[in-house]
This record gives sequence, C-alpha cells and structure tokens, in this order.
Amino acid sequence: MKRILIDMDEVMADVYEKLIDCYTEEFAYRPLPEAYQGKKIYDLPNAHHIRNRLHEVGFFSDVAVMENCRMVIERLQENYEVFVVTATQEFRNSLADKHTWLETNFPSISWRNYVMCGDKSVVTGDYMIDDKVSNLKKFNGTGLLFTSPHNVYDEGYTRVNNWLEVAAFFEQA
Ligand SMILES: [Mg+2]
Repeated sequence: MKRILIDMDEVMADVYEKLIDCYTEEFAYRPLPEAYQGKKIYDLPNAHHIRNRLHEVGFFSDVAVMENCRMVIERLQENYEVFVVTATQEFRNSLADKHTWLETNFPSISWRNYVMCGDKSVVTGDYMIDDKVSNLKKFNGTGLLFTSPHNVYDEGYTRVNNWLEVAAFFEQA
C-alpha cells in the first residue's frame, strides 16, 4: 500500500476557528476573512500574544474537525496506509491533547499511526497533505497543499481546498 501522511492543524483540525474565537473574546469583534488572508490570526495587529494560547493545557483538545475529513480518511484507509504526522514539540501540552483528540474523533486510525514529531522531514511516504509549504518542501513524495487562509498566496504545489477535493485527487491517483 502507498503511504499518505496527513497533517492535523488546519487540515484535520480547524485551529483557525478556535483562534478566531480567542481573538473575538479578547477584542470583542470577529475579524473578517479579508483581514487574515495570507496570515495567521496572531499576526493581526496587537494580537501576537494570542499565540501563547497554543501552550495551554486543553487548547487542542476541543478543536472542530474539518468537514468531511473523517469520512474521506476512512475511505482512503481502504487503499492506502494513512499516518497522521503532526508537529507537537513546540507546544508540549498539545501532545496529550492531540492524542486524545485523534482517539475520540478518528477511531479508525490506530495510535501506531500517530507520528508526533518536531521536524516532519524525518518522515517519508508517497503523499503528504499539509497546509505548510515548508513541510511539503522537505518531503520526499508528492505534496498536496491544503488551503488555509495563511497559504492562499503560496504556489508551486497541487492545491486541495477541502476534503472532497482530497477524495477526488485520490480517485484519480
Ligand atoms: Mg498544519
């Protein structure tokens, strides 16, 4: 079986939504999508400290699952070896939270297929689905760029805008 590596944040888990909630709580208004195209929520003016929330115990435990993600991954597992590859080492509390989140929301993926690492370049496979060009650049196989507000201006990779487009890509692959 060919191997697909799947990123968590902004691919399986909607961390933007959670950070927008943090921002809204603090500034008492919800930023419009135009304001954060090409950037992270904590790159908005005066919002850098919101990034500290990522260090909190529990931050990653209740992030929303991306639409159609579970269904498409379960379907991919019929024909591919699926590994979740996520960087957890900068935010040490995220490791336990992400483990629980995966176990709860993706029962079809064994803990043996969780790769919680620092630098994704140590992991090899045939396909990588990630929202960060820097991860795809170091990958040995085919990279798919999963659209997220921060990467809308990035180029050079096959782009998938949502999980139905991921399904369509692998139907052709
Ligand atoms: Mg990500």
